[in-house]
Amino acid sequence: MTVERDEARWSAHAKLRTLLRKFSVAAFLLLLPALASAGDFLWLSDIHFDPLADPQIVEQLAAAEAGQWRAILDAGSAKFPGYGADTSWPLLASVLEASAKTQPDSAFTIATGDLLAHHLRERFNGIASAHDDPAFRSFVRKTVAFLTLELKQSFPNKPVFVALGNNDDECGDYALQPNGPFLHDTAPFTTGLAGVADSADYARYGVLSAANPALKKHRIIVLNTVFFSARYHDACEHPSEDPAASELAWLAAELAHAQAHHEKVWLVYHIPPGIDAYATTHPKQPSPNPPVVSLWKETYTSQFLQILAQFPSVTGPNFAGHIHADDFRLLAGAGGGAPFVIDAPPVSPITGQNPSFRTVEFDSSGQLLNQSTYFLKNLLETAAATPPDWEREYNFQTAFQLPSSTRHNIRFSARRSLPPRTRPSSGRLSMLRPRRREIRLRPRTSADITALLAAVQRQFTTRVFRRQNNETV
Ligand SMILES: [Zn+2]
Repeated sequence: MTVERDEARWSAHAKLRTLLRKFSVAAFLLLLPALASAGDFLWLSDIHFDPLADPQIVEQLAAAEAGQWRAILDAGSAKFPGYGADTSWPLLASVLEASAKTQPDSAFTIATGDLLAHHLRERFNGIASAHDDPAFRSFVRKTVAFLTLELKQSFPNKPVFVALGNNDDECGDYALQPNGPFLHDTAPFTTGLAGVADSADYARYGVLSAANPALKKHRIIVLNTVFFSARYHDACEHPSEDPAASELAWLAAELAHAQAHHEKVWLVYHIPPGIDAYATTHPKQPSPNPPVVSLWKETYTSQFLQILAQFPSVTGPNFAGHIHADDFRLLAGAGGGAPFVIDAPPVSPITGQNPSFRTVEFDSSGQLLNQSTYFLKNLLETAAATPPDWEREYNFQTAFQLPSSTRHNIRFSARRSLPPRTRPSSGRLSMLRPRRREIRLRPRTSADITALLAAVQRQFTTRVFRRQNNETV
């Protein structure tokens, strides 16, 4: 009887809570006009441009300057890529056109890393007649120069903030040489796109700091988190210094400077901190309970969090890529006001997603109000010359009935995105303090990660991918 009474009481409470929640959502929505938008920015991630998609024109590209590439690529025969391939010229041209048209008044653009296609060196060696190190370095420099020209032309007079990804170097995956040839070759392009005059920091570490062009007393700091990766190694030269430690010291100094000037900072980078869900669920050594793999070395994760915790009033949202999925992360251990990381889905369909880009709206205090994800819904048909059809997949406010993307609301939406069956505490994957709308996911094993991925991604991330194939998602 007690149990039944408790259940009845619980159910009454649940109904009341639901009513209150509906009421508060309605109240939030009524308040929406009060949260005035101060502007928006465009977001492209994991472009993975492949200039080798048409092997017939590679010699021409290698011999030409970047300014001549567009004409050569236009005359080539590359088509839109299928799932499992990187971004060919037609897809690159299409995503730049679609994003610029969707949000013509965007204040700026961010590109969260991986400009270059996978396995560029190996494939270049197999196609280009001259493929020694200097020839490849020149080809990579031209590829980045060409991307710079295209970004400038697509978003004229608007800054573009480019973070480097693990594929962005000529030395190999996760092998960028600090202060090396790639950084020196590309620093003028990348800092030029951002409107930053001094390229010394970029040439050394691939980092830059710039005033936020749309918000007073706000900065954008681009980090190179490849140096923090557990997979990073300087394959081209024995490192004379620890680039990650030096970069973190630079970040701490930048945040201290921002604090002294009463500025807030948004961070833009490629590899986010936290768990590498793919590596954890695909262990190299078969094991009944393989360890959880982190994306960053643990020491750099904790140093990064410690640095952010020293400047709680400074750091705002973090924007990342790399995961090739629509993802978000709440940074733990850096205090209640710790920032969150939003991860954008990729332009490249190499891991089976439809090409995507995102727009993000913010208010004058730098709080994120809304974000919309757009995707190319007819990727397979475009290879047969059907015009590309970009469509908005969802926006945050409508999907989650929340007025803004604050840490609190992202945490709330994370809880909502879990299907009810996984909500009650299950030990490791426990959801605590439901009344405070707070979720704490503490995965300890790969089995937890698998459960978490299945639960969250099915509900939140992959709902409409491959919609054109009428796949059940
Ligand atoms: Zn990538």
